[in-house]
Amino acid sequence: MIVCKFGGSSLADAGQFKKVHDIVKANPDRHYVVPSAPGRRFANDEKVTDLLYSCQRAASAGADFSGILLRVQERYDAIIRDLGLKLSLSREFDTIARQIRDGAGSEYCASRGEYLNGILLAAYLGFDFVDAAGVVRFDKNGLLMEDETLRLLSDELKNHTRAVIPGFYGAEDDGTVRTFSRGGSDISGALVASSVNADVYENWTDVPGFCIADPRIVPDAKYIPSITYKELRELSYMGATVLHEDAVFPVRKCGIPTNIRSTNDPQHPGTMISVSAGLDSVQHTITGIAGQKGFSIVHIEKDMMNSELGFGRRVLQAFEEYAVNFEHLPTGIDTMSVVVRESELNRHRDEVIARIEELVHPDQINVADNIALIATVGRGMVRMFGTAARLFTAISSRGISIRTIDQGSSEISIIVGVDAADFNSAIEAIYDAFVRT
Ligand code: ASP
Repeated sequence: MIVCKFGGSSLADAGQFKKVHDIVKANPDRHYVVPSAPGRRFANDEKVTDLLYSCQRAASAGADFSGILLRVQERYDAIIRDLGLKLSLSREFDTIARQIRDGAGSEYCASRGEYLNGILLAAYLGFDFVDAAGVVRFDKNGLLMEDETLRLLSDELKNHTRAVIPGFYGAEDDGTVRTFSRGGSDISGALVASSVNADVYENWTDVPGFCIADPRIVPDAKYIPSITYKELRELSYMGATVLHEDAVFPVRKCGIPTNIRSTNDPQHPGTMISVSAGLDSVQHTITGIAGQKGFSIVHIEKDMMNSELGFGRRVLQAFEEYAVNFEHLPTGIDTMSVVVRESELNRHRDEVIARIEELVHPDQINVADNIALIATVGRGMVRMFGTAARLFTAISSRGISIRTIDQGSSEISIIVGVDAADFNSAIEAIYDAFVRT
């Protein structure tokens, strides 16, 4: 049994709907389909979800929103017309307009993109429509009630051999519609997959998976054929985005693999994310490289620091007191570095430094700004001798100095800090050393 989620670009117009239809029908195991709202058809196009948010903003400012809602309606009408469907959403649009006029919240408004697309896609595929409001449960604070949701979904889906369940939203007990954060249909898909114990959760988007490195930096970067959830977590934390971060948990828990696929290139096997990909699927020692700019390193030195009980705790206390989150903590014998996001540090920079001085009386303390962190991730790195040396040689042979190193205890990632100006070149160097050779 397969659960497939299709993103907004996969359902942006009738042409894309046809591709989705062919994909779903090509494999009878594809029983449940979770759609997003229609996304962009071309570069400067508007996403239906964004239009719906604008509608609600206009309404709550007392302005006329009917023009914007009409643009939304035209998007659906064009799809219905071009697919030759006998379906009218005008009554739905009357209800939506009335609800907005009566003060419906932004989550209700935004959710209508998926709701309407679900009705449309179900009609086109000949599948049942299951409204997510009845099967995805949120609490009063808008937090997902996962166990309750899985129970509701699995009970309901027993009554439908094939169904479309819209993504992105659900409801509280009293029917108040709530949404996930943006891109949240990925989470809905994962919940559906988990509730029916699917063999695979297919997530169809406009790219065939994750690239080994950001293609804006390495234009010919290859796709990653197989990756573990753990590796993915390390890469996403560093900014690699294809999948909503929270979409991993429901499926990972049940051991269901997620397959990222491209609606525009359905023959491409995409990236398979699994709980434990075997080492025989490792192609290049490393699985992926991801990085981000905007970090600072607070470097603290004090002789005999290693024998001073509570030193580290007091340093971190200074950050905690000012609610500055720390990201990494590379330490030496008499040195300790705290890597933080520059934007966070800037809120209380002087206070944090003064507090560290007060708490631990360091011999020296300095801050390096404009640091980029680069994570090189790979389950194959542990068994390969000399991976770190290869990585550092690759970077330093380009004349780039490494400002900090942190090898996660998981041994599936090595994080290096370089000056932001060297960011692209360091990533190219790592890609060259591990993938091009
Ligand atoms: N349509 C929503 C968004 O644009 C949710 C999604 O696509 O997953 O964020």
